[in-house]
Amino acid sequence: MRNKILLRNLLALFLLAVVSIAAFGQNVVVLVIDGARYSETFGAKAAYMPDIWTTLRPKGTIWTDFRNDSITKTDPGHSTIETGIWQNIDNSGLDRPHQPTFFEYFRKASLADEQSTAVIVGKKKLDILTYSTDPEYGKEYRSAFYLDSSDMSVFTRVKNVLIQKHPRLVLINFPSVDIIGHKNDWNGYLSAIKTADSLVQALWNLIQSDSFYRNSTTLFVTNDHGRHDDEHGGFSNHGCSCEGCRHIMLFAIGRNIPAGGVVTAKHTQCDIAPTAGVLLSFPTPKTIGMNLLLDISNSPKY
Ligand SMILES: [Zn+2]
Ligand SMILES: [Zn+2]
Repeated sequence: MRNKILLRNLLALFLLAVVSIAAFGQNVVVLVIDGARYSETFGAKAAYMPDIWTTLRPKGTIWTDFRNDSITKTDPGHSTIETGIWQNIDNSGLDRPHQPTFFEYFRKASLADEQSTAVIVGKKKLDILTYSTDPEYGKEYRSAFYLDSSDMSVFTRVKNVLIQKHPRLVLINFPSVDIIGHKNDWNGYLSAIKTADSLVQALWNLIQSDSFYRNSTTLFVTNDHGRHDDEHGGFSNHGCSCEGCRHIMLFAIGRNIPAGGVVTAKHTQCDIAPTAGVLLSFPTPKTIGMNLLLDISNSPKY
């Protein structure tokens, strides 16, 4: 009898804890549009990103001087975003990041399980994003991993994973802009940016239509790198230190992000992981970036 009461009390406590965690839970989604050059994103205002520029931007904040200041390639760029420190790693999928990813920080601090995190990508070589080689963290704290091929199929996967598993920290890669850019197909490249733009809108609608995520989620949209400007070879490739390769977009919307904000001060990819740490209350001791929320409030508005 006594055991039964004890068991019932324990069950009640457990349920209370679950409800509390859900109620106070916040979520962060980082979406990387692979290899879009600033001149075709915010540099062109609504021309190729009508949904973000016209509909979402007034509800969120944009950064107009956001940069990849290191290696302007896919694996280094994505790895820097999730670790908050420049990652000088191989670009073919052979190297993992050398410092902890935000998944490892989050899981170690919160005891959250693997399914509470998600890497959802369109390039196989990005399976290196699930965990780092840091001996204090690593595989034990890895993220769940999902692979698809185009922006559309990645988005379908994102939809299913978010609805079914409700991960709290998510890193998404949309591959198509980069893949079509490398084919030297200018119209295809622009049209891929438009598709990615409409999928960002669809993702935000999905977040706001799900009670787990609604009003408790911060969405960041950025790039791993840009593409060469016309003086350095043009849009079909990337990888150098030219302005086209370095200057990228950053947009944020949702929890803790002011509406109509525009930050003109310089920021880099290293700032995203520590900001995710502040939003989800986990420490990020090996990052070198700054919390992006600190100077949003001081910035002018549109
Ligand atoms: Zn890339
Ligand atoms: Zn370049």
